[in-house]
Amino acid sequence: MINQTHIVIDLETMGVGSHAAIVAIGAVRIERGQHAAEFYRRVDLASSIAHGGTTDASTISWWLKQSTEARAEVDGSQQPGGLYDVLLALSDFIHACDEPRLWGNGATFDLRILGEAYDAFHDPRPWDFRLERDLRTILELYPEAKDVGDFDGVRHHALADACHEAKQLVRAMKAHDRRHTIAAGSAARITVVIEDHAEGVHLGQQLAGGRVVAAMQGDLSELSDALEEAEDVLLSWGCEATAAMARAAITKARGQ
Ligand SMILES: [Mg+2]
Repeated sequence: MINQTHIVIDLETMGVGSHAAIVAIGAVRIERGQHAAEFYRRVDLASSIAHGGTTDASTISWWLKQSTEARAEVDGSQQPGGLYDVLLALSDFIHACDEPRLWGNGATFDLRILGEAYDAFHDPRPWDFRLERDLRTILELYPEAKDVGDFDGVRHHALADACHEAKQLVRAMKAHDRRHTIAAGSAARITVVIEDHAEGVHLGQQLAGGRVVAAMQGDLSELSDALEEAEDVLLSWGCEATAAMARAAITKARGQ
């Protein structure tokens, strides 16, 4: 999955409906898990509204409560482009790579609104609808991927948001690919390492020629508890054969 090309899109809008008026577009291209290129344009609000973009009071109120730095995204203080020109530039950005997966933050937000904007000009959408993807779904499957450290820049700036989301996506795809690899049978044995403390050891860490699937403080008397913890993690990863080995080891450890 991570070896495909992905583009993360983040829109800032003045509404939440499918025809919401767009005020900024940010995008990040990911190639082989690396941040490869970025796109950012502000959009003239009047231009968006003139082409069917809608606003709603709750979104306007929401923007008014944001920080001064965030509000710069919508206050017209920086030179925006007309909606059509920005869409054409975005099309060039998307067409610069072959069949990218396009990610929105929500199944019906960014890509839907963007698609409606292209439709308003009777221009073809510059992506294949079969390659639309949703970040919220993959982050629900891999919640640990949400944690990518401190937010870099100003939240609700379309490019800063897209960069942050791209980091989360890369982390989620790595977790997914790792799970897939393990499920395919690369983890075929369990090694138990007895240490006098578990500090600094974390799930997924490379240790003793494998990855840590359980870590707890204790001694050999806690072996069956540690193996139970390992079994749960292995089952959650879909590694049923290796989990069965953990179960057999638990039975043996308990002398049953
Ligand atoms: Mg945003």
